[in-house]
Amino acid sequence: MRELACRKCKTLTTEKTCPNDGSTELSKEWSGLIIVINPDRSQVAKTLGITKQGRYALKVS
Ligand SMILES: [Zn+2]
Repeated sequence: MRELACRKCKTLTTEKTCPNDGSTELSKEWSGLIIVINPDRSQVAKTLGITKQGRYALKVS
């Protein structure tokens, strides 16, 4: 099953709510998978404002 991306924080999930912030605003329309292992050292994570490790979508529409 394709994962859903949270519109607020871009976290990917197969749940009905975002595990990060509890949002139910999840979208099937996303692209660009980013896996953040060490947010402190990841330039991409900083650019996107990601502070926790996890899997994120680059773009959510
Ligand atoms: Zn979220």
